[in-house]
Amino acid sequence: MNKIETKDRLIQETWKLALADLTKSCGLAVVNSWMSKLSPASNLDGKFVFVSSTSFVCDNVKSRFYNEILSAIQSHDSSVSSIDIVVGSNENDDLNTFGNDLLEGHGNNQSCSFGGSKVFQQDDQYGLSALDPKFTFDTFVVGKPNEFAYAAAKRICESDDAIYNPLFLYGGVGLGKTHLMHAVAWEVRQNFPHKKVIYISAEKFMFLFVRSLRHKDSIAFKEMFRNTDILMIDDVQFICGKNATQEEFFHTFNVLVDNNKQIVLSADKSPVDLEDVEARLKSRMGWGLVADIHPANFELRLGILQTKVQESMAVIPENVLEFLAMKITSNIRELEGALNRIIAHATLIGRNVTIDMAKDVIRDILRSNEKIVTIEAIQRRVCEFYGIKQSEILSSNRKKDITNARHVAMYLSKKMTTNSLPEIGRKFGGKDHATVLHAVKRVNEKMNSDSSIASDIEILMKTLEG
Ligand code: ADP
Ligand code: MG
Repeated sequence: MNKIETKDRLIQETWKLALADLTKSCGLAVVNSWMSKLSPASNLDGKFVFVSSTSFVCDNVKSRFYNEILSAIQSHDSSVSSIDIVVGSNENDDLNTFGNDLLEGHGNNQSCSFGGSKVFQQDDQYGLSALDPKFTFDTFVVGKPNEFAYAAAKRICESDDAIYNPLFLYGGVGLGKTHLMHAVAWEVRQNFPHKKVIYISAEKFMFLFVRSLRHKDSIAFKEMFRNTDILMIDDVQFICGKNATQEEFFHTFNVLVDNNKQIVLSADKSPVDLEDVEARLKSRMGWGLVADIHPANFELRLGILQTKVQESMAVIPENVLEFLAMKITSNIRELEGALNRIIAHATLIGRNVTIDMAKDVIRDILRSNEKIVTIEAIQRRVCEFYGIKQSEILSSNRKKDITNARHVAMYLSKKMTTNSLPEIGRKFGGKDHATVLHAVKRVNEKMNSDSSIASDIEILMKTLEG
């Protein structure tokens, strides 16, 4: 066993012993929710460093359990004088290589281990970066919106040759692109241990490229990227506009494709929709397989929550999970954030988990997920509902049914949007604020005397809120 491996093992051992003590002093629930989320990374010059995959865990552990963790570690390794927790696998600073010691000779790299697997840690100039041990295929929940991207990513890990070059994963923020890429890296490492895999964010790629130009070692840079079996670049939309980097990327791309090496890319848009990217690069990126990750539907959101709850060993009632899956539709990162917060409140202050408790704890997230209703959407829906034309609602036509629809639409605009009366008037074909005020008053009066108007309004509001 070499020196580094012995050292890694010692770090793991120390942490195992410390965790046992922490379980006694803080309780199993706290350890499961927080401490077990940390991976020990290094122990140098009296500083014991952990990696956490989320800043949520990092911040909370640092602020709540710093002293407890430090003293637990000190009782097994008296040379430790401080601890630190860094967020690993931040998309912005990822460069990981597997297989051969690809980066040897480029900076003072240090290998370290996460969950027993060897990954590379760049020198401090870049900060610590690591693949997230939790981003594997096993922890990826598959549903209709992501099954195609999942299958394509999985397929790449099974073949010795490049299959689709490149595999281009695209989808909105927080939908699992980075998770899938890390999963490919872990899986390839298992299936083909000799293969060199590089996973890097596009921003980091640019940074390294520019730095290599400045340090006049662009040959080393080129070699590093062109001597890999699988190159994965995350968030390529950030390569936009930087011409020299695009050029370098294009050449690297061609060299790898010519040598039958696999390329995996991700972005928030499809290749054709990328802005500020050279046409030839766009077309090259669309050559292989373009796999779209759609926003998660209710079933997938619920499935993800159920899986995460099982992992955390917390007990959360099913109706609360359904409530979260129903209300938090923006993306999976936010869904996870909400769940983590609820679990934290439940385990730390022993609060009973109910829908009301959830509403209280994640009020801000719920608010940001509320559907924003626009005046235009209201006009459209009201016109459909009463069977009149959009141009009529904006006109000054005083026919009874048209006036009625216009009044209802103005009333809903006041009630459901944050626009002022003059703003609403302007959007109704340039009416003044007094007209809108009058409409709102009329509808209020009518709702008291005419139950059919009240029910129209109720139905319209429900459908507008989705
Ligand atoms: P993106 O890179 O598309 O912005 P990420 O891959 O960072 O999104 O995913 C955001 C969070 O959501 C991560 O914690 C990830 O593990 C989780 N996530 C996304 N999709 C899934 C899924 N299908 N199953 C389980 N977790 C998921
Ligand atoms: Mg990402």
